[in-house]
Amino acid sequence: MKMYVDQDLCIACGACINICPAVFDWNDDGKAEAIKEEIPENVEGDAIEAMESCPTEAIKKA
Ligand code: SF4
Repeated sequence: MKMYVDQDLCIACGACINICPAVFDWNDDGKAEAIKEEIPENVEGDAIEAMESCPTEAIKKA
């Protein structure tokens, strides 16, 4: 599974990074981005929770 953050929708609330720091981190623009090309199986559940918790639905499955 792959995910990406739509930079136009991210409001930098930090929820995804709190929920799943293994996959999401801040980028140089102060927004969230997926730091893993392919999401490891052991954090897939957390990544999905992060996606569902995003207030602007900025996290998409690639
Ligand atoms: S939860 Fe959504 S809006 Fe918040 S930092 Fe992550 S991608 Fe951006």
